[in-house]
Amino acid sequence: MQTDYVQRFLFEELDIRGRLLCLTGAWQRMLDGRDYPEDVASLLGHTTALNTLLGANQKGAGRVTLQVQGSGPVRLLVADCTAELRIRGMAHFRKEGLRKTNERNLLGDGRLSVTLEDLQSGRFYQSLVPLEGETLEQRLRETAVERETLAATIDPDLLSRYQRLFTSKNGTPIVPVEHEVCMGCHMKNTTTTVHKAKLAREIVYCEQCGRILY
Ligand SMILES: [Zn+2]
Repeated sequence: MQTDYVQRFLFEELDIRGRLLCLTGAWQRMLDGRDYPEDVASLLGHTTALNTLLGANQKGAGRVTLQVQGSGPVRLLVADCTAELRIRGMAHFRKEGLRKTNERNLLGDGRLSVTLEDLQSGRFYQSLVPLEGETLEQRLRETAVERETLAATIDPDLLSRYQRLFTSKNGTPIVPVEHEVCMGCHMKNTTTTVHKAKLAREIVYCEQCGRILY
């Protein structure tokens, strides 16, 4: 029986779409030999589930890592997932201060980072989010909403090009140009292109790989 999978679903008439995640086997293996208190295990479970949903979104040989650093009893949570649903995760915590409380208090204030890694080229793309919402799930949802609001104000053609680049370039659609060389593909661009990119009055694409240059 398959115990770990992500299943997309769509109810067309209701305009509802989502993903169903099941992580029985992988989750049990992750907890094996670790003596996490119930609250910590539950928080790590949420982090792992959220990260796996993010990771299952990726195409190609990518890895997604969700890391939460807090000032509360739980200092660090890390969950890591590849496109093939290989998951890892761990929690660092202080026993003192752990008691029946909510996720927000277990973590305190802190920050959350999501890192996309291209396993072939070793390139990284990272975004940092301060931890302010009630739960991680809520915070990530807010981040997604902010991105959608932002997306709504951007030219749809540019946005779809950006989204295609984001996927095909494994999370590095926008790269700097240094000494006329694109830092994405490491190929030289003409002086005109580099000049336009530095002026930043328009969107400029790398002549070689098509990434957006700045
Ligand atoms: Zn390039």
